[in-house]
Amino acid sequence: MVGEAEVVVLGAGVVGLTAAWLLRERGFRVRVVTEALGEASRPPVALVNPLRGRRFTLAPEGERALETALRFYPRFAPVHPGVFRPVPEGGRAKVAGRLGGLRHRWEGGGVLLEEAFWLEPRPLLERLAAGLPLLRARAVAWEPPYLVLEGGRRVRGAALVYAGGGRGAHLLGLWGQHTPGLVLTLLDYFSRAISYRVYLAGVALGGSYLPHEERPHLPPPTEGEVEWLLAGAEALVGYRPRVASAWRGVRFRLDRGGRAQGLPYLFPVEGGYALTGLGSTGFLYAPLLAERLAEALG
Ligand SMILES: Cc1cc2nc3c(=O)[nH]c(=O)nc-3n(C[C@H](O)[C@H](O)[C@H](O)COP(=O)(O)OP(=O)(O)OC[C@H]3O[C@@H](n4cnc5c(N)ncnc54)[C@H](O)[C@@H]3O)c2cc1C
Repeated sequence: MVGEAEVVVLGAGVVGLTAAWLLRERGFRVRVVTEALGEASRPPVALVNPLRGRRFTLAPEGERALETALRFYPRFAPVHPGVFRPVPEGGRAKVAGRLGGLRHRWEGGGVLLEEAFWLEPRPLLERLAAGLPLLRARAVAWEPPYLVLEGGRRVRGAALVYAGGGRGAHLLGLWGQHTPGLVLTLLDYFSRAISYRVYLAGVALGGSYLPHEERPHLPPPTEGEVEWLLAGAEALVGYRPRVASAWRGVRFRLDRGGRAQGLPYLFPVEGGYALTGLGSTGFLYAPLLAERLAEALG
């Protein structure tokens, strides 16, 4: 057996690391077990934007999630405030009615969300991990109060927290959609994020073009997908940015949806809790969910 902890967190993506940090800060003895430092959580840039998609839907508890994120992330990594959302002609009144209490300003052809922001996930994960007891290992079974590791070793926790994203979900029999997404890094730099269909922020151009699948799978970038991203960028800024490199990741969304009460991403499982299935909103919700988990663990 590899020591004991009050709470053992499986997974060191933004969700697991944020939860582990907050729990430790609240006095829990925490250990993180992970194969790698984030998986879906490693895009070059992440937006923290509560106004979602082409329909401009305010994410459930979006204002509170943004407020909590703004209290948490700047302690570890620079945040770049301001997400500009072009609004199609004729849609302004409808969008205005969906902004809730979000601080905003109408500008040109759209609305600037003044407190929404972007950040760079990789240095954030490094900074969070540096302050935590981290065991690099692959978990092969969830047998509360133990996590069973490859090679037969076990880690014991009074509570186990699953934050293993899409790749580890089979350990708990959790099923959902895995959606590959592509982020191109650019030679250009966009200090203010702009988002409609695709997003430009910092050196990144991202979006989701491919359909979802039943398993995590990383297909190589296709021409159609790259063209779709570049055309989307051109529609936003009037020219095609030059591409430096590409990063591919897979979003994981749980099949719990409307059946669950409150945010469907935090729920009890045998031996503890799961915090997973956040789709494209991992960075938006991780700090709020971490607070809720700390309350649940009492
Ligand atoms: C292209 C793309 C762009 C995105 N853009 C944004 C964005 O702009 N804003 C936003 O909020 N979200 C964005 N997301 C989504 C966001 O990245 C995810 O919601 C978030 O990363 C999920 O975090 P996680 O910690 O649950 O999962 P992950 O980052 O996948 O972490 C899972 C962790 O568990 C570990 N693990 C898994 N299985 C095991 C095992 N058996 N044993 C040991 N360790 C294991 C992995 O090594 C990893 O450390 C994007 C995703 C993609 C793919």
